[in-house]
Amino acid sequence: MKINANEISALIKEQIKNYHAKIDSSDVGTVVTVGDGIALIYGLDQAMLGELLLFPNDVYGMVMNLEEDHVGAVLLGDDKLIKEGDMVKRTKQVMEVPVGNEMLGRVVNALGQPIDGQGEIKTSKRRPIERIAPGVITRKSVDAPLETGITAIDAMTPIGRGQRELIIGDRQTGKTAIAVDAIINQKGKNVICIYVAIGQKNSTVAQIVDKLKTYGALEYTMVMAATASEPAPMLYIAPYAGCAIAEEWMEQGKDVLIIYDDLSKHAVAYRTLSLLLKRSPGREAYPGDVFYLHSRLLERACKLNEDYGGGSITALPIVETQSGDISAYIPTNVISITDGQIFLQTDLFNAGQRPAIDSGLSVSRVGGAAQFKATKQVARSLKIDLASFLEMKSFAQFGSDLDKSTLDILKHGEVLLQVLRQEQYKVRSLSNQVFGLYLAKNKYLDALPINEVKKTLEDAYKYVLDNKPAVLKDIDEKKEITDANESALRNAIEDFFKVNEKK
Ligand code: ATP
Ligand code: MG
Repeated sequence: MKINANEISALIKEQIKNYHAKIDSSDVGTVVTVGDGIALIYGLDQAMLGELLLFPNDVYGMVMNLEEDHVGAVLLGDDKLIKEGDMVKRTKQVMEVPVGNEMLGRVVNALGQPIDGQGEIKTSKRRPIERIAPGVITRKSVDAPLETGITAIDAMTPIGRGQRELIIGDRQTGKTAIAVDAIINQKGKNVICIYVAIGQKNSTVAQIVDKLKTYGALEYTMVMAATASEPAPMLYIAPYAGCAIAEEWMEQGKDVLIIYDDLSKHAVAYRTLSLLLKRSPGREAYPGDVFYLHSRLLERACKLNEDYGGGSITALPIVETQSGDISAYIPTNVISITDGQIFLQTDLFNAGQRPAIDSGLSVSRVGGAAQFKATKQVARSLKIDLASFLEMKSFAQFGSDLDKSTLDILKHGEVLLQVLRQEQYKVRSLSNQVFGLYLAKNKYLDALPINEVKKTLEDAYKYVLDNKPAVLKDIDEKKEITDANESALRNAIEDFFKVNEKK
């Protein structure tokens, strides 16, 4: 049998045509370049945004960029294990984390894997880390307080369950301290806590875990750590992963408190990724969608209405400022997303006024609706008194002979600041806070030398706690100052001062 040249070439042409059709580039791809935790991949025509990819050596990656001729992915493992030409497979799954009560008391990484050496976490459920925030129909306005146990916050910028309150300030101004105290104060209050550490030192996270353990707070808390030594993609996904774990509890009708410490470092990690993926830099070199980065995260914190179980996620994001500049890019973004901010000042901190809360620049836009009546009764004029004190103080610097009423306002302001001073890890119950503010409001402390105010207040509280505990218990239970418990309180306080005078 003879085959002529034409037939052969037709056969080859046919084979070449079919050969192309047989290659399926939709589910596998080839690494073109890899480095700095980023891989560019040829192929993967059908890949989805946010999809997990499987690289050799069991390294996972997540799709971040879908370009015309390649896919950009961030690596969630060591990029040294991957080289050019390696094959990449689609998993057809988005990034997920394990969720459930098994996570309580554990320290995990951004993938939800344990890093505390306490063995495997056996959960039965996983959730995607990204989710569209609950819509308005499913929500309800804030109506229950989230007590931080810090007088300055509970009195002046009260936080409600389901609220988002930013903690903002320079480095070393006590931002983390407030968040940790808020967690410690949730003991026995039926609130599950999640602390997400982003870009911090391993040692700092270890110290926090240690403190939580000491104060018995770890049993209702989960810590997620994406530390500074980890690749940027881990820092980027950590807050979303933490939020997904919180959402599982919220949907079970539970109240959750989640802390993101801090979102400045999160934004920097995202900027790193974006620049490596060659997205165009904008203001302060952040990519154009950096607002969306934080808004889609914080929108997921909310209070669900009864039809949806009534659970809530309260979010306390932390942002670090540079020399008190709250008008920088990331701070203004997060301020506009949240329902208020607690602004911490270096000057106050160094002057010993701790927590260093700036009463003028701190605000809580929705928490007032959830504040306990007792606190409202004693703290109503607190912010105004402090404001007039600060104004008067700056004027008083110029003149030497001040009239009595000015001196009184100045003294009263100083006393208020003393009452708001509070050491770390010493969270106060409702009645303890109300007690201090009641004494200040009714000027029981104004006659004392300023350096004795705090000590006297503590002694007075201890005296009433030892001798008349019923009145404090009544305030804690009724959560309001009634005519009856007020007269009992007044008597107890006057007894204390009488006893003290005799000494
Ligand atoms: P960084 O910017 O490093 O994260 P930060 O703003 O989170 O710092 P913290 O680590 O909370 O600040 O606190 C800084 C220091 O101040 C710590 O040593 C802490 O113990 C101390 N501190 C914080 N709050 C108080 C307080 N209320 N009373 C006394 N000391 C405090
Ligand atoms: Mg900190």
